[in-house]
Amino acid sequence: MSTPAILIASNNAHKHQELREIFGVLAPALSLVTPREVGLALDPDETADTYLGNALLKARAFAAAAHGKGLWVIADDSGLEVDALGGRPGLLSARYHRQAPGGDGCAALLAELRGVPMPGRTARFRAVIVLIDPTGAEQAFTGLCEGRIGHGARGIGGFGFDPVFMVGTGPRTMAELPPPEKNRISHRGLAAAQAVAALSAGPSST
Ligand code: IMP
Repeated sequence: MSTPAILIASNNAHKHQELREIFGVLAPALSLVTPREVGLALDPDETADTYLGNALLKARAFAAAAHGKGLWVIADDSGLEVDALGGRPGLLSARYHRQAPGGDGCAALLAELRGVPMPGRTARFRAVIVLIDPTGAEQAFTGLCEGRIGHGARGIGGFGFDPVFMVGTGPRTMAELPPPEKNRISHRGLAAAQAVAALSAGPSST
């Protein structure tokens, strides 16, 4: 089988970097390309009401735009679900950061959880990855990473809510983990590992 190139259906530089790091470890022979690298400029609206729906919207839009290029397409939709907030911000996590005072979603989340003791601060990151092969066949994979929201922000790695997300029951935030460690246990890393297994199986024959 020839080595497929995979188009990342996102304009988010953090996602490009994380997916490249993850694939670099799990499947170094696969090459990931960004929309800009293949001359595509589109920014599909994320209007669905599920992670899967949004990942499909992005993957399908980029697959249509890249039609005929022989590329696989990978899209990711993700968010942080905080139990004390009934699962918010969830699907609206990116918007939560944009709408927070000063764009600081971590500070806004800490303020919302002020006074909530540690046992009530459970949360999880969820990622849904959609893969579309060059024949148009679609597959979806989910990854979860459980943890708690700390009482402050710590660490300089990652992005988004990483500085306030304490991994599992341990003391470290996601932003304190070296990238390879984050990628081994993160929602995105776990979903991507399933996508890599599907990529290794090759395009659908149906
Ligand atoms: P989207 O998948 O582009 O809609 O955005 C997901 C949003 O969820 C990001 O803007 C972050 O706020 C949050 N998020 C998703 N994955 C992570 C992560 O690995 N670390 C920190 N925040 C994340």
